[in-house]
Amino acid sequence: MKICSAIAETHNQIITWQQQKCKIALIPTMGNLHAGHLSLIKQAQQYADRIAVTIFVNPLQFTNTIDLQLYPRTFEQDCDKLKQANVDLLFFPCEQTIYPHGQTNHCIVSDPLLSKIHCGASRPGHFDGVATIIVKLFNILPTQIAIFGEKDYQQLLIIRRVVQDLQIPIEIISAPIIRESDGLAMSSRNQYLNAQERKIAPLLYQTLNNIKNEIERGNNNFAKLALQQQQLLATAGFKPDYINICERQTLQIASAKDKNLIILAAAYLGKARLIDNIQCNI
Ligand code: AMP
Repeated sequence: MKICSAIAETHNQIITWQQQKCKIALIPTMGNLHAGHLSLIKQAQQYADRIAVTIFVNPLQFTNTIDLQLYPRTFEQDCDKLKQANVDLLFFPCEQTIYPHGQTNHCIVSDPLLSKIHCGASRPGHFDGVATIIVKLFNILPTQIAIFGEKDYQQLLIIRRVVQDLQIPIEIISAPIIRESDGLAMSSRNQYLNAQERKIAPLLYQTLNNIKNEIERGNNNFAKLALQQQQLLATAGFKPDYINICERQTLQIASAKDKNLIILAAAYLGKARLIDNIQCNI
């Protein structure tokens, strides 16, 4: 596996592969890799001849300095996992390389609608930071496809929208959520949970399943349903941020006539902010 931290070297490698007619897949990450990330690589290998992974803890998408400082950085272990997974290129830039003029003077890519709702309402600026780094990575590593997890469903839709609106020639492929055996969605932030919190954490996914089952049984009082389940989470020790039953393509709050739904949830448990979602068809 080739490891590059400079933009020109990384870009040239991608262009060389393009000239050799290779199909290349890009997988952006913030490192601290787990089975969820590795599943994206496996999926990418079905579509592409070359796999490029990026590791960059993007300060622009953090709305809290302590969260940024505490974010787990495990470069050596990540490299071992990427080599074992037969990744071809790792782009691992430093902050100065990505934001040479600092973050505040940098141009921003922003989806005016999707970036302001759900997680965007609680974390103002977060999705602008995400959209901006992703566009930069698409330019540095001009691959034919990029893979993103459905775990971050709102992020996935924002990236699709940015690619469409800015005419970026890349195909976005989504990958299903990988979970622990008890249902908890894998996340680098799960390690912030203490033993007691870890035991109750799967309740978030159970709550999503309860809502899905209720909807499939015919309950279409979505607002009441979401509120009731949010209260149950609070009783169990979570600090729910939101549970929203949405139309799956627009992420607007669903009405009873919508057929393709997604239930989005975010809740604090101790120091961890957990997010999860489940799709539901009626
Ligand atoms: P992150 O390192 O958290 O920025 O995530 C990098 C990519 O991995 C994003 O596309 C995430 O949606 C995806 N991802 C993170 N956790 C999971 C998971 N449990 N299952 C599937 N994809 C995931």
